[in-house]
Amino acid sequence: MKKDILSYDLNELCAEMELLGEKKFRARQIYEWLHIKRVHEFANMSNISLALRTKLDEIYCINRINIVRKLESSLDNTVKYLYELSDGNHIESVLMEYKHGNSLCISTQVGCKMGCNFCASTIAGFKRDLLTSEMLMQVYMAEENSGRHVDSIVLMGIGEPLDNFDNVVKFLRMISCETGKNLSLRHVSLSTCGLVDRIYDLAGYKFGLTLSISLHAPTDQKRSSIMPVNKRYGISELIEACRYYIDKTGRRISFEYAVIHGVNDTHEDAEALIKLLRGINCHVNLIPVNEIKERDYRSDKNSLNIFAAALEKGGLNTTIRRTLGADIDAACGQLRREYEI
Ligand code: SAH
Repeated sequence: MKKDILSYDLNELCAEMELLGEKKFRARQIYEWLHIKRVHEFANMSNISLALRTKLDEIYCINRINIVRKLESSLDNTVKYLYELSDGNHIESVLMEYKHGNSLCISTQVGCKMGCNFCASTIAGFKRDLLTSEMLMQVYMAEENSGRHVDSIVLMGIGEPLDNFDNVVKFLRMISCETGKNLSLRHVSLSTCGLVDRIYDLAGYKFGLTLSISLHAPTDQKRSSIMPVNKRYGISELIEACRYYIDKTGRRISFEYAVIHGVNDTHEDAEALIKLLRGINCHVNLIPVNEIKERDYRSDKNSLNIFAAALEKGGLNTTIRRTLGADIDAACGQLRREYEI
């Protein structure tokens, strides 16, 4: 099998070129062709000799992901892409427009092991981790296809980013590399269901990104009933890891809370959440739960507003996430799911 050249960072590509007996500066030239000019074929690398281009083509592949469906919202400028990977698996990305620019939500795995019972991404189970190249290509393809510049990236699509830790860390380093897209990690958010060990590991990198914790319930009993991961890492352990992360990185954490009527939106839930998060440098993002056909969860607008007001009153910095692409089912996992049935 050919080597996946798009997954090599610049240092690794230098080492590869040395192995081939090439000068180191070739690595930078090739890296620019791949990550700035984004050619699809070695043949287009016009400042590389024909002999080297032929050799590269024999040893490496430029991993492609192909758009198999593209849905465009008629309500806002949301675009949802369904991609086929080179092994026939499918993933999704969603391009959204905000006042501050375009934001791309990308997938990090094919399927998910975490089993959150309100999430469409996990229902068909887990297939495999995405390669770094497949995460980068979601960004490059969205820009190429839409003609829009991706200003920020959220790792909130299909999969659990911290369960694909090494490839995700490499993606973060490569997307922010000066010889490449050069995107500041201040414009990146990473969302996790709470893999505590990996939160400690991530803190060590001191990335400038925003860490989002999918909390969704304020007590162990409730959280475990909708998120199996909570049986492995309970809430107090998770919050301790969050405190450590904030302390180490100096960054505020965002807690995501999908509001499900009758499940986690009572007055007691609000009180428990206020108590849990009081004094933590954080922000609470309430998400009206996206209805998926496998569950009858729904959000109630009135209860949601009351819940939000209670949190604000309790001193928590709270926002309600705006729904984008409502007409194209833009929530993660929904398109792939439809496609695979
Ligand atoms: N595995 C990561 C990232 C993927 S999910 C995580 O758990 O954070 C991105 C966000 O969407 C998470 O906060 C997730 O809990 C939430 N989510 C999943 N299904 C949802 C649904 N049906 N309605 C609202 N939010 C949902």
